[in-house]
Amino acid sequence: MNTTTVRCTNCGKANRVPAAAHGRPNCGNCRAPLPWIAEAGDDDFAAVAEEAKLPVLVDFWATWCGPCRMVSPALEQVATELAGRIKLVKVDIDRSPALARRFQIQAVPTLVVLHHGSTVARQAGAAPAPALRQWLERALEDSARADDPAAHAG
Ligand SMILES: [Zn+2]
Repeated sequence: MNTTTVRCTNCGKANRVPAAAHGRPNCGNCRAPLPWIAEAGDDDFAAVAEEAKLPVLVDFWATWCGPCRMVSPALEQVATELAGRIKLVKVDIDRSPALARRFQIQAVPTLVVLHHGSTVARQAGAAPAPALRQWLERALEDSARADDPAAHAG
């Protein structure tokens, strides 16, 4: 299983975080939610992204894409700010042709928010961190509403 080392933003302890896990990762020292940033490809996308218990922001990117190199740090910043509420999953489209076809990726970066495996929001092109965060917050609200059928009444 792929793991990444993430430093807790609350206490500074380095934690090893698996790409796929039940629930969401917390700091082993202070229990604060940890930023969850993982990579996935054709083989492990189901386990890493679709089976996640929290909304997933998928970053479809490519090594040759200039705007992707600008968006990736912004996404990591937003994923850190929203630790415990979102999981960031990066997909290199050149190494994941089946996913690129399935999500009909025409341009990179393309950002897709998945909740329980279905698409909640999608946008193509680069944007600065504050705009990304605003877009993502709205997608998270939509995800929360989908979880609460009572909110659909009226
Ligand atoms: Zn901590």
